Amino acid sequence: MLTYDVIIIGGGPAGLSAANTTSKSGLNTIVLEEHGKIGEPLACGEGISIDKISTLENMPNPEFQLDDNALQLQQHHSFVERIVRAQRFFFGNTGVATSSLNTVTINRPLFDQLMAKNAEKNGALIKLNTAVKGIHRNQGKLELITTQGNFQSKIVIGCDGPASHSVRMMGLSPPSKYVQAVEYKIDGVFTDALDFYFNFNILKMHYGWVFPKKVHTNVGVVVDPASSPMKILNLFTDYLENKDIKNAKIVRKIAGIIPAGGPIPKYYTDNFMAAGDAAGMTNSIFYGGIAISIHSAALAAQIAKDAYETNDFSANFLKQYAELCQQFPYTNPIIQQAHEILYDYFTAEDLDTLGKWFNGWDITEFSKMQKIKIFLKAMTKPKLLRKFNNAKTLAHGFSTSRDWGF
Ligand SMILES: Cc1cc2nc3c(=O)[nH]c(=O)nc-3n(C[C@H](O)[C@H](O)[C@H](O)COP(=O)(O)OP(=O)(O)OC[C@H]3O[C@@H](n4cnc5c(N)ncnc54)[C@H](O)[C@@H]3O)c2cc1C
Repeated sequence: MLTYDVIIIGGGPAGLSAANTTSKSGLNTIVLEEHGKIGEPLACGEGISIDKISTLENMPNPEFQLDDNALQLQQHHSFVERIVRAQRFFFGNTGVATSSLNTVTINRPLFDQLMAKNAEKNGALIKLNTAVKGIHRNQGKLELITTQGNFQSKIVIGCDGPASHSVRMMGLSPPSKYVQAVEYKIDGVFTDALDFYFNFNILKMHYGWVFPKKVHTNVGVVVDPASSPMKILNLFTDYLENKDIKNAKIVRKIAGIIPAGGPIPKYYTDNFMAAGDAAGMTNSIFYGGIAISIHSAALAAQIAKDAYETNDFSANFLKQYAELCQQFPYTNPIIQQAHEILYDYFTAEDLDTLGKWFNGWDITEFSKMQKIKIFLKAMTKPKLLRKFNNAKTLAHGFSTSRDWGF
């Protein structure tokens, strides 16, 4: 039985971030990853907002600076594919709002591989082709049964993604709700913005995206797990105005699930913490999770270090991890409320109305005048006026979540 100070299950952004922090602290760390290569198979739209991510510990290149110009950013950070300083939000069939957040599209496999290299430089061991099959308690430690032998530790960090078995094996509740996401990576670049399509006639209560990369475009949809995702993705590409998108060569098809119900009720227990998708920590409006995984896992790793310093691995001590996460916007219940308003309560007709109102507006921050105009417009629509308070929650949830990943 091999013994480590910290065992991390899963070599995605969460696991690699945790490994970076624990190994930097001098803890003997191993990452167990079931696949044969970090970053593969790819399941990602590869869009991130850099205002938040540039401040994160454990980014592949820590000196990631916002004020670098575009050329410098790409030269210094090989994972950056394209700098995108505009977003467009297509509401129904009636209007387009814009925002001007600093975002980039990335080469996600390379992004993850660079994170892995950093963790290894700090001394972490990354063990590929090693799937965790079981976890048992034994004399104050957790014993992990894997396809490559057994391992034990006083601290295990579960970063095994949206379908996390570790969370279930530790008796915690898994995410309550999921969406499915499917995407074509196509040849050619067809937009210079990150484009989001909220059209519930096609994408029943969900959304579609068109993200430009260096030489490719990612075109994807988020749909209900019970629907036929590829059929809906094809309907979406048919619907897009730019017919070249439909005819472009598909270089890759990508699919995955994303937790959509907010953080799980409890993401720690004796000797165990869960982070990233495994803990349900995604932005449930846009469903991005890269920044949140990196951040939440770094917090779990920090608490793992504290646990060693105090020699206390109990749930009572590890609950400090949840307390830390609760200080950050991505666990704010307003995001979940906004999710429910947008996807469960607003209709396709409401989106058409919002499209008319917001058409041509920059909605990065609503000005006082814009807020008054919306209120006056809402007065003329009694049905929407009743939803007006909800619209405020939606706007609040949107602005709380947007820095934490598309
Ligand atoms: C189609 C799609 C598009 C997306 N687009 C974006 C986007 O544009 N921007 C954004 O910010 N987010 C996006 N996301 C979400 C983002 O990809 C995730 O939030 C992020 O990858 C979560 O990181 P993680 O480390 O928690 O989990 P993962 O990246 O899922 O990593 C988990 C790792 O654990 C491993 N593993 C699982 N089970 C075991 C086991 N039993 N034993 C050993 N290893 C195991 C897996 O192989 C995997 O490597 C998208 C998701 C999908 C599906």
